[in-house]
Amino acid sequence: MEPKSNIRLDESGYFVSKYARISQKEWTTISTENSGYDTADELLIALDESIETIIETLNRENWGSELKSQHGENFDTTIEIRFTYEVSNAIGGGSGINPNIHPLVKLNRSRFESNNAPCVHELTHIISPETESLSLSEGLACYMQDEKGNSFSFPNYGVSVHKNG
Ligand SMILES: [Zn+2]
Repeated sequence: MEPKSNIRLDESGYFVSKYARISQKEWTTISTENSGYDTADELLIALDESIETIIETLNRENWGSELKSQHGENFDTTIEIRFTYEVSNAIGGGSGINPNIHPLVKLNRSRFESNNAPCVHELTHIISPETESLSLSEGLACYMQDEKGNSFSFPNYGVSVHKNG
């Protein structure tokens, strides 16, 4: 069996997993008490699992190699996680907002600290193909959060997307 955790701390102070990274400094600014994650390792392992679920569900095995073919073989597709006082958002990848920069997910700080951050929603924006349609992009991200993520996120706060027609 593969070891569950292969998180490493790189020379620039980032904890790095297979798909994501977060700086050690950023992590220390978070109050972990009610976040659901005691350590950055735990968060990165959970994010890797979510990312693999998104890739499988959307058949996006090539998302990383697509970015590399656009930006060059050395383009780092690792998704950086940061925290923000503003609403959670994603840039890079298929998010449509400046696809030339490295994938970055910013999670609202207080929502993260209460174990209520829309991680799957924001990761879906990065992994899904870029589309001109904002409604398609948001719809897909909301659907994925509802189906695969924690269940209390905007816009439906845990009510199944199938329920309201
Ligand atoms: Zn969104």
